[in-house]
Amino acid sequence: MYLGKIVEVAPRREIFAAPRHPYTKALLSAVPLPEPGAQRNPIILRGDLPSPINPPPGCRFHTRCPFAFDRCRTEEPTLRAAGPEQWVACHLDEPP
Ligand code: SF4
Repeated sequence: MYLGKIVEVAPRREIFAAPRHPYTKALLSAVPLPEPGAQRNPIILRGDLPSPINPPPGCRFHTRCPFAFDRCRTEEPTLRAAGPEQWVACHLDEPP
């Protein structure tokens, strides 16, 4: 969930194994690994964190998404099936 909107839904195993939304990927990249010395490559989100009471138009994550393009700034993505038990709200995950 980002700024009050569900961005991805999946069973725990799938979401940890193969997150699809850019925000989910960034969140999970920050989770420490349980092995001593093991490291992930954390995805550092840049950009402004919008106010939840005045969210930006389009995709609410577009001010921080490293993959944002023009459509993201105007059109809100809807939650769509991305697998048998996975749903993602991202324009990059839509069929062509
Ligand atoms: S819709 Fe656009 S801004 Fe939103 S997560 Fe997908 S690529 Fe990023």
